[in-house]
Amino acid sequence: MTLQIFDTGSRSLRDFKPLREGHVSIYLCGATPQSYPHIGHVRSGVAFDVLRRWLLAKGYDVAFVRNVTDIDDKILTKAAENGRPWWEWVSTFEREFTWAYNTLGVLPPSVEPRATGHVTQMVEYMQRLIDAGFAYAADGSVYFDVAAWVAASDGDYGSLSGNRVDEMEQGETDNAGKRNQLDFALWKAAKPGEPSWPTPWGAGRPGWHLECSAMATWYLGGSFDIHCGGLDLQFPHHENEIAQSHAAGDGFAQYWMHNHWVTMSGEKMSKSLGNVLSVPNILELVRPVELRYYLGSAHYRSMLEYSEAALKEAAQGYRRIEAFLAKVGPVDKGEWTPEFEAAMDDDLSVPRALAEIHNTVRAGNSALASGDKAEAVRLASALRAMTDVLGVDPQSEKWAGQANAENTAALDALDVLVTAELQRRADARAEKNWAVADEVRDRLAQAGIEVTDTAEGPRWSLQDSNN
Ligand SMILES: [Zn+2]
Repeated sequence: MTLQIFDTGSRSLRDFKPLREGHVSIYLCGATPQSYPHIGHVRSGVAFDVLRRWLLAKGYDVAFVRNVTDIDDKILTKAAENGRPWWEWVSTFEREFTWAYNTLGVLPPSVEPRATGHVTQMVEYMQRLIDAGFAYAADGSVYFDVAAWVAASDGDYGSLSGNRVDEMEQGETDNAGKRNQLDFALWKAAKPGEPSWPTPWGAGRPGWHLECSAMATWYLGGSFDIHCGGLDLQFPHHENEIAQSHAAGDGFAQYWMHNHWVTMSGEKMSKSLGNVLSVPNILELVRPVELRYYLGSAHYRSMLEYSEAALKEAAQGYRRIEAFLAKVGPVDKGEWTPEFEAAMDDDLSVPRALAEIHNTVRAGNSALASGDKAEAVRLASALRAMTDVLGVDPQSEKWAGQANAENTAALDALDVLVTAELQRRADARAEKNWAVADEVRDRLAQAGIEVTDTAEGPRWSLQDSNN
């Protein structure tokens, strides 16, 4: 079956055809690390990790580039406010992002380039743009000439975001030397006390948009398959990446994919929400695999409205899968179902894929209840294949044995109480007091506790209540 993806550039579902058969090249705009990652940040990482895993599962060789914007106004401001060197500040939070991605089971990118490590490529790129007549140097900065590109490109500028050129705002505060307010900075002239790198046009530091064109091209070539990022990057960031690359004569990305953001009470993740919803804070409430499962529970192009109740509900959903696989025991990874494949091929419809996963869990529990162990094993194997694509396979090396602390403590407490009841039953039986023995049995059964008498004494377990 053919994977269809929703391409923001054409605003339509398109059959995915890579430029080179069997290979897929992907560029994802990564973090600008200046504080702890919140779940809005990692949603993007998880969403496109699922894309990558699905392509790998379909047999593609995937090159996955995710950059780090390690020089930027916000980084310089925050570091200065805190009296720390900018490079220490950004490195500290880069490690926090890496920790969060690893903790959530996001596969490490093929390469993770930093902007400051690619000044050579940026200088080369600016020279190409100046030579082509679409960029100019002024007062030590280098700007992209939007008007020149608009005149030459017949509607290219604005086609991704759908913005009208005459209504655009680049949102840049430093406009010294700009011929036109619409122009955007490729390179910013050095300011006293700020880090800078030498160029033929003077010392300065990278403008934000240039780094992604330069790095994507350096690693993946002038044309590559898929460019991904958060919805808020469409304009100006991605629109300007396209302008730079097309103006330089490159084909650039063939498909554009954007994930929607996380909101709380309808509000886009702001700085204050970012503190509440930082990854370390959320991981006080659920396990990492449960957070990952939750982030995938809404379609990547839908808004994810955060609530603790929804998070906990998602965790319960994940535990149903985990509980079934635990009952079956270790199995090999099998084949996903046709319904699962259809869902994933339909623009990564993870909610539909999860519905299929839970249908499979229900069928598996029925098979176990009717004593059909072979069928239960077959369904468990299918479940492993499907959950692996989503990065949440409970029997994978990553997640197996990740005890649920809350459940473990509750089960330990319950064990003390049930063991005492079973002792009371044993004493009553020894005294031939059948009324008390039956009363204990009935009460436990009512509480959903199954007791099995074995040669080593009675064993208890929770009846499956999820089916
Ligand atoms: Zn970018």
